[in-house]
Amino acid sequence: MDSISQNTPSNHVDTARLGDRLMGMAQIGATPNGGVNRQALSAEDAAARLKMMEWAAVYGFSVTTDEIGNLYVRRVGTDPNAAPIMTGSHLDSQPTGGKFDGAYGVVGGFEALAAIHESGIQTKRPIEVVAWTNEEGSRFQPGCAGSAIFSGKDRIEDHLDIKDWDGVTVREALKAIFATAPDMPYRAAGGTVDGYIEAHIEQGPVLEAEAKTIGVVTGIQGATRFVVEIVGEEAHAGTAPLKLRKDALKSACTIVGALEELMADPTDTVRFTVGRFDVMPGSPNTVPGRVQFTIDFRHPDMDTLKRLGTAIQPTCEANARGCHVSVTQIVDNAPVAFADSVMDIIRAESDTLSLPNRDIASGAGHDAWYMTDLCPTGMIFVPCKGGVSHNEAESATPEDLAAGIRVLANSLTLLANR
Ligand SMILES: [Zn+2]
Repeated sequence: MDSISQNTPSNHVDTARLGDRLMGMAQIGATPNGGVNRQALSAEDAAARLKMMEWAAVYGFSVTTDEIGNLYVRRVGTDPNAAPIMTGSHLDSQPTGGKFDGAYGVVGGFEALAAIHESGIQTKRPIEVVAWTNEEGSRFQPGCAGSAIFSGKDRIEDHLDIKDWDGVTVREALKAIFATAPDMPYRAAGGTVDGYIEAHIEQGPVLEAEAKTIGVVTGIQGATRFVVEIVGEEAHAGTAPLKLRKDALKSACTIVGALEELMADPTDTVRFTVGRFDVMPGSPNTVPGRVQFTIDFRHPDMDTLKRLGTAIQPTCEANARGCHVSVTQIVDNAPVAFADSVMDIIRAESDTLSLPNRDIASGAGHDAWYMTDLCPTGMIFVPCKGGVSHNEAESATPEDLAAGIRVLANSLTLLANR
């Protein structure tokens, strides 16, 4: 190896070490079916953070945390006043999640930092690996709490009293997690950041199908969420004539059918999901008096997102069948485009490493969505088997995972020397 290649961080990315660390992380909260259940701010989350601290200590990287529990691993730069370059993702998972969603961006980010360190390069800017708190939003809703608070879009006060299914608040869970590492230095969330790149498995089938190793992510599609409530009238299933009923469930079924038609899209770009449906009182011999369901609706194009989004309420009302309908929007995330400057670097580094790559839009939301307000932001996708994610069967090859981190390590180094 000549001196130039010795100095290239990607040459120090260790496929086996990365794989070992990912599998080590996956043991924390491991499920019997080979997946991971690591809820935000749980004992498993605490153990995952302690593991990051252990790894960081070996390299002399500092570890700090902030008021929402985001964890930062930092390698210093030569300019003490320079704003950092950040990389990372999340360590929490869905209840029946996989080994790679989130963990790849954090553990892989750490592998990139280790590789840069071992290359001997001193970057001008510090580089930080961050594990954002509660990205998934499965224990505490909404998700992306850590990155939202860091970006200034959300206030911590609005998250602290949110409760999980056992009535435990974010405030209490944070207190417990801070107690597991009482000596960890504190920093405030937020501040100036000079660039952010998040590595993630694609969570879709495109890269694998086209045999591309690297996805240069162009942006994140817009995502909205609504809660629809239909109020009818409870009645006796045996005695109330059908004609006189105000059956909230039958109304809901008609509404969902009408929404399905509204969202019909021959190009299959619209993402429309009714993921939760609650029927009340939920008794076999009572006509349902109330139904609540959720709508998750996404599209990469702002105009379409607005046009179809505004049509949801009138469509619900027109199909209410005598019931009362109310529609509440609870999420309204505009589509974001990532910075050309970051995409150019990721694309060029992939080409230099002879890794087949393509531009790709993200269908899923990520912490990177929040970073676009703060600094030039980008993401690197690697293929996952069959596009399967949010599933215990989630899988990716060690080679693809390492390839993504080789691109990440070189890209971070370039950004950190700008
Ligand atoms: Zn994720």
